[in-house]
Amino acid sequence: MNYINYYTAEYRIYGQKESLPAQVSLNESGFYYKVGEEEREQLLRIAEIVSIHTYNTYKVVLNFGDFPYQTLTCKDPAFLSEIKQQFKGYEVVDALSKSSKTTYIKYLLFLASFFIGLILFFYFVLVPWLVNKAVTHFPWEQEKKLGEMMYTKIKEQEKANPKKSLLLEHFFYQLCDSAQNPVQILFADNPVVNAYALPGGFIVINSGIVNQMVSPEELAGVLAHEYAHVRKKHTLKSMFNTLGFSVLLQLFLGSQDHSWLNAIGWQAQELSQLKYSRSLETEADEEAFKVLKNKSLNPHGLITLFSRLQENEKVNMPEILSTHPLPEDRIKKFNNLIEASPYPVIEKPYLELLFNQIKGK
Ligand SMILES: [Zn+2]
Repeated sequence: MNYINYYTAEYRIYGQKESLPAQVSLNESGFYYKVGEEEREQLLRIAEIVSIHTYNTYKVVLNFGDFPYQTLTCKDPAFLSEIKQQFKGYEVVDALSKSSKTTYIKYLLFLASFFIGLILFFYFVLVPWLVNKAVTHFPWEQEKKLGEMMYTKIKEQEKANPKKSLLLEHFFYQLCDSAQNPVQILFADNPVVNAYALPGGFIVINSGIVNQMVSPEELAGVLAHEYAHVRKKHTLKSMFNTLGFSVLLQLFLGSQDHSWLNAIGWQAQELSQLKYSRSLETEADEEAFKVLKNKSLNPHGLITLFSRLQENEKVNMPEILSTHPLPEDRIKKFNNLIEASPYPVIEKPYLELLFNQIKGK
């Protein structure tokens, strides 16, 4: 028995809008088709077909005849697979198999790249943007609470020197008016050459870095730099960026019990190793320069300190030199700031006195 499948199709003459209902079937030499109410089927030989196209992997369009050619459109996927099977090896059908395959692959590739793009956009654009917004609007009181928890933990781990901590704070308040973002400084007896800022106005200065300093201007530069991280919320920004989506979720869910703050509190140990982005470090250096200029302090202090630390700490870079840009770039940029905006320097004997006390001389 020979079954013939008839497929519903549309018949159209090229360039005309209207189409007529049609039926189409396959036979061994080509197609039979019947347009509208016509009684007789017409034979369309495979050789007469100008081109076959597929759309969305199931719609088949046969173009045939002289120009303006005629078109039969069938949207039945079974029709397509029957064509491929019956006319395997015909040039026009081979092209069709290839084109439908490539269309399908192109479609998959498009979908894949769309979703990859969406994920990349989400992680590299949307989340950082939201994090930035969240940090900007993060209330100072909340930030202080968070910083306090970390500060408490750090105090437990570090050997604090209360007298030198007070001296450092006194030194700091000679430089900065920090009414809006009050600062608390911890002098830690720790040989690691490091100074870092916690959220909420807490700054830790290790004895290791103080031992490397030879002038009050160097200390002033470091404190002004760390204070810029505080005032510009750099630590919070970097922490939120590291924690990313999870912290945003907590913020947007509006967790009332602050348990998430506790969770972040456990990151306190990592804070001393927190790396800021290149742009944040540059910003902190620029802010530090403004402070030094405002107090007519020798701005070369930060440069002499950078150069010395770079010499001594090739392996383990302190926070202040830890990130890109490389120390050479930082020094160059700082020199450019000084050259672009020179100012007269005034000696500060009182800072010298405080500095010597902090150094323990
Ligand atoms: Zn820094």
